[in-house]
Amino acid sequence: MENLRIDGQRLWDSLMEMAQIGATAKGGVCRLALTDLDRESRQLFTRWAEDAGCSVSFDAMGNIFARRPGRNDALPAVMTGSHLDSQPTGGKFDGAYGVLAGLEVLRTLKDLGVETEAPVEVVVWTNEEGSRFAPAMIGSGAYAGVFDLDYAHSRKDGEGRSLGDELARIGYKGEGCGGRPATAYFEAHIEQGPILEAADKTIGVVTGAQGQRWYEITLVGQEAHAGPTPMARRKDALVGAAHIVTAVNRIGHAFQPNACATCGMLQVKPNSRNVIPGEVWMTVDFRHPSDARLAEMDQALREAVEAAADGGRLQVTVDQIWGFDAVPFDPACVAAVRAGAVRSGASHMDIVSGAGHDACYMARVAPTGMIFVPCENGISHNEIENATPADLAAGCEVLLHAILERAGAK
Ligand SMILES: [Zn+2]
Repeated sequence: MENLRIDGQRLWDSLMEMAQIGATAKGGVCRLALTDLDRESRQLFTRWAEDAGCSVSFDAMGNIFARRPGRNDALPAVMTGSHLDSQPTGGKFDGAYGVLAGLEVLRTLKDLGVETEAPVEVVVWTNEEGSRFAPAMIGSGAYAGVFDLDYAHSRKDGEGRSLGDELARIGYKGEGCGGRPATAYFEAHIEQGPILEAADKTIGVVTGAQGQRWYEITLVGQEAHAGPTPMARRKDALVGAAHIVTAVNRIGHAFQPNACATCGMLQVKPNSRNVIPGEVWMTVDFRHPSDARLAEMDQALREAVEAAADGGRLQVTVDQIWGFDAVPFDPACVAAVRAGAVRSGASHMDIVSGAGHDACYMARVAPTGMIFVPCENGISHNEIENATPADLAAGCEVLLHAILERAGAK
């Protein structure tokens, strides 16, 4: 299997053809979930997959499965895929790359007459972006049992149309969702960040996705006149908030590599130049690929808040309002991606996903791994999103090797 090669030009041409559906004047794509344009992209994918010898089906969430049988077709499939919906001002590669890289693998296997032991399936997940219907990743989430079907179908867009009705309208509301075992799930994706480009590496071996914790903190002191109030008597809520801002930044640096710590919003009351601030509301966003480290960051934040309260001078409350557990990917799948990079001679490094992907939900029900390739200046969710044909081809070749390793091929 050493000399298997995907066709990078064919992959690029397919990406460019898909990008015509919903193409924007600035070179991007606007293909919102379950619109007529989404249907058109689904039909193009289906035609291509059938031409590559696959049978195509879809489930109750409109997730599409293009299946290439295995020698032992009763084995759980090796799955790969991503999404074809985009942000309103999206790019050509976010999502479409993972779908069409999977298709290119199927085309390559067909051209070379390679039989795999297990079947191989390429999946198009519905409404990954969460732009038209919230929440994001709802198709893969329903497949993985995170959302029940009634909940998913009842989600509404800004004009009050439900996801279930729109699925039916475009002809993609099938039967059943999830519950099928998979040998492995791989997803190729542009990085959507600057790390690979800065390190001059072609392949990101994604070890997992980071967990997140969102906090809201309120500090209450006492409003007072900025002139007559002596420094020693002040209960300045903004000074306390400032200590928290610098502590959060310090925590982010202290938990490297991979920690991110941000205070993004600050509301000061009364926000008047000659009044000592009596109250501050602020947010904290912590991210780390290890839940254990996130818990330590949480502890450090609470100590910093305690210190900022300055012995009771300020009343401070901390609410964790939202959290998402870290998603460690399957070690064998991660190793298969790394081995694929070595085999194809591509430079590579381990990396953690900063964004959510369908793979994060698939990791709950199947051994999962991801492959990142660089995107220009790390820019994504933007019409100028760009990636090189060579990098995209390299990622697709790694995907081919990883799929072959897990599907078994002579
Ligand atoms: Zn995406």
